[in-house]
Amino acid sequence: SNQKPTNFIHQIIESDLQNNVHEKIVTRFPPEPNGYLHIGHAKSICLNFGTAEKYNGVCNLRFDDTNPDKESQEYIDSILSDIKWLGYQWGGEICYTSTYFDQLFDWAIHLIKEGKAYVCDLGVEAAREYRGSFSEAGTDSPYRNRSVEENLALFERMKNGEFKEGACSLRAKIDMSAANMNLRDPMIYRILHTSHHQTGDKWCIYPIYDFAHGQSDAIEGITHSLCTLEFEDHRPLYEWFIENLPVPYTPKQYEFSRLELNYTITSKRKLKQLVDDNAVTSWNDPRMPTISGLRRRGYTPKSLRQFCDMIGVTRSNGVVDMGMLEAAIREDLDSSAPRAMCVTRPLKVTLTNMEEGVEEWFELPAHPKDESMGVRRVGLTRNLLIEQEDFIEEKPVAKNKHDKWKRLATGDAVRLRGAYVITCNDVVKNELGEVIELLCTYDPETKGSNPQGYKPNGVIHWVSEELSEPCEVRLYDRLFTEANPDADKEHSFMEFLNPESLVILSDSRVERSLKGAEPETRYQFERMGYFCIDADSSEDKLVINRTVTLRDSWAK
Ligand code: ATP
Ligand code: MG
Ligand code: MG
Repeated sequence: SNQKPTNFIHQIIESDLQNNVHEKIVTRFPPEPNGYLHIGHAKSICLNFGTAEKYNGVCNLRFDDTNPDKESQEYIDSILSDIKWLGYQWGGEICYTSTYFDQLFDWAIHLIKEGKAYVCDLGVEAAREYRGSFSEAGTDSPYRNRSVEENLALFERMKNGEFKEGACSLRAKIDMSAANMNLRDPMIYRILHTSHHQTGDKWCIYPIYDFAHGQSDAIEGITHSLCTLEFEDHRPLYEWFIENLPVPYTPKQYEFSRLELNYTITSKRKLKQLVDDNAVTSWNDPRMPTISGLRRRGYTPKSLRQFCDMIGVTRSNGVVDMGMLEAAIREDLDSSAPRAMCVTRPLKVTLTNMEEGVEEWFELPAHPKDESMGVRRVGLTRNLLIEQEDFIEEKPVAKNKHDKWKRLATGDAVRLRGAYVITCNDVVKNELGEVIELLCTYDPETKGSNPQGYKPNGVIHWVSEELSEPCEVRLYDRLFTEANPDADKEHSFMEFLNPESLVILSDSRVERSLKGAEPETRYQFERMGYFCIDADSSEDKLVINRTVTLRDSWAK
């Protein structure tokens, strides 16, 4: 249907604007720089930046950098590049949660002074036991009733590096019998003797996400703090901090459902495992669902934005079919990608009635439906190459009229796309009995007109051996063979890797018009699919990624 997909956040904002709740909409995109962004982040980016754009507001980019041992500048740089590539611009300076560490520290002191936070010496295990369970109230920590003075002194010593990691932590004093586990005296600061990519060695205590996030939103005046549904249970804590601290603004958290896609994985931690275990070559391997991987695969920013638009924003979790993402790129490239011919698995064809050394050039449209894209020149010579699978010695008997062999067979004719009709008169075989060359004649009367007295089986693509460029074609397929590779408790997702997710065809040849094509240029190779030039290309040899096939071969 053409119905506009739901975006319940937009509905909330429209009602807020109508009721003058806010003058200006301020959102934020808050990645933790502990990996490359993936397609799930694209959903959040389109939502946060797209919402700001739509309502004339601003969207901050904030690096949520409270776990220095997992974070790095490399990740920060990749995130900046991905957001820009998607076509979005953050408002003002780039923000870092670490910029607020002084303020957050002061607010922790404020809670201590109010008797609402304490230094606790329980270890991780013990703290978990004291916390209780969903069915059982927790037990107060033996350190819960330390005096304000003692807590201030201990917290200062934590900050000064006098304690080992894990020796103690600062906890909010809320309610050990709260039904919501997040309110059972959550940790707000922990000791971590790690230098930080932004603050160096200034700190050896770092705020926990829950303590940092809402307060950062308050500092930045975020009107709508949009996060995924796992954080719904954290909202009471988010609000508790805002109510109990002298913050300059009261932000509000709203949750939406995460994007999950079948046949892939959307978790930075697991994607990192694929990289670390060499299951893929890098974070931007074209099989990865990372933004940089999709980019290298040939996806356009427009197609990713279109996809995010199509899936909508709701509060119900569901798995989106990979076919939808593929449909989005097909739709974009169908109208925007110039056509070209590439023979991926070449079979030699000799036109016995054409002189050696003669070249005949054809002007073919770059796009059949868009004249503004101009023309390309394709050269024909005596020595041609066609796709191995476009020839069969003996054509199969057709079961019905839709089942006819539409390619070349011995004794039959076929049209070379944009050129002549050729007939295969004979074949040459090697010692193994394999066909290695077709001896054909071309019909000079068939340039732009039908042959007289016979009918070609169909139309196939081709290149001239001399007037084409060598290339390596990388055929990519889905990374996993299972729709939900992460569903099985007994088996790791690593066991469901698709062994055919990459097939390399290193003897391919592409028409000369692609010579020197720049990385990220996209094409439709006639009959073969959509392709994109890879950065691995050299002057001698193009490397070309298959973005997606022409039709959905996974559809049942
Ligand atoms: P991951 O589990 O992959 O590490 P994350 O949520 O920990 O994801 P962050 O860097 O914290 O990663 O994410 C930044 C923003 O992107 C957050 O607001 C988060 O909610 C959002 N986000 C992350 N994954 C998805 C997803 N699959 N669908 C929608 N939004 C997502
Ligand atoms: Mg996170
Ligand atoms: Mg994470």
